[in-house]
Amino acid sequence: MESIATDQRHHLGFKAYQPLSSKVLVKYFKAQTFTAETVPNTEAEQVKILCDSDNWSAGIIRKNPLCIVHNSRHAPTRQESNLMHEFAHVILKHKMVGCDPQTGLPQRRQQDEDEAVYLGGCLQIPRRGLLWAVQKKMTVAQIALHFNASEEMVNFRINVSGIDIV
Ligand SMILES: [Zn+2]
Repeated sequence: MESIATDQRHHLGFKAYQPLSSKVLVKYFKAQTFTAETVPNTEAEQVKILCDSDNWSAGIIRKNPLCIVHNSRHAPTRQESNLMHEFAHVILKHKMVGCDPQTGLPQRRQQDEDEAVYLGGCLQIPRRGLLWAVQKKMTVAQIALHFNASEEMVNFRINVSGIDIV
């Protein structure tokens, strides 16, 4: 996963320590992004469920052209990781396996979810970027700010990357 993220970032011209905005990926994949309010061809009832709920992050509603709906109720840093997660599905060429009856959003296999969680995190904060930040003695809050990520994401990345932070 780490090397897939490194390759993708390299391809886009980003070094490990540079923050990668989801906007760059949106442009690269020629994606259209929607919020629950702006998503086309959705029934009013479903729009209401999506608008009122925090319990969903994002989903790909069309593959070609790529259309992603994401939850604008989440904090901006979380919206970033939500989008990274969806692009991870795209990069890994995951298939959709039906729809959530509650939200109407596409569902996926648990293994695919785990992979996308991991790759999404690598894209946002690569291990080498994390090492760079730790060497610079940046705090978790500073790292989060630098990579436009949540502190939860920074802590997750520190844990799974096996990096010691003092
Ligand atoms: Zn997912």
